[in-house]
Amino acid sequence: MEEIRCPFCGEDVTEAISPDALLTCPRCHVVLLLTSDEDEGEARVRNAVSGAQNIDTDDVQVVVVKGVTTRDGHHLHLIAGWNPEETLRVPDVASILGVSRYQAWRYCTTGAFPNASKGRPSRRHYDTGIWLIPRKDVQRFLLTGRRSERREDDENY
Ligand SMILES: [Zn+2]
Repeated sequence: MEEIRCPFCGEDVTEAISPDALLTCPRCHVVLLLTSDEDEGEARVRNAVSGAQNIDTDDVQVVVVKGVTTRDGHHLHLIAGWNPEETLRVPDVASILGVSRYQAWRYCTTGAFPNASKGRPSRRHYDTGIWLIPRKDVQRFLLTGRRSERREDDENY
């Protein structure tokens, strides 16, 4: 049996997911659906994300992984959907990337997330405000940033 992993963050959701039931990824909170009907499934995912995020269904980003083998041997499609403009905070990003909060904050301050911005100062973060990171920047980092970061590490050691 193959593992079923969240296409966004790579979390193993094999045990948590069941066919035709919407699941929120416990790690990165994208909407996941395992289904035989790709078109209907995509529509369900788009509707779920647009309702939760209050955005147009056309603005939902969807990824379809075809032919996922389930525990009982069925071949289904895994559909993931999210709002690329959703604002994440440092603890969310740390969890998704599997790094410390300090490391996630460092990524913000060093420009690893090009569209990250400082929110308004709060009581707890009165001097600086908190970092607001669009999900699309975290996605881009997952796809490209890790590799360049590793190269830098290689140069340092
Ligand atoms: Zn995930």
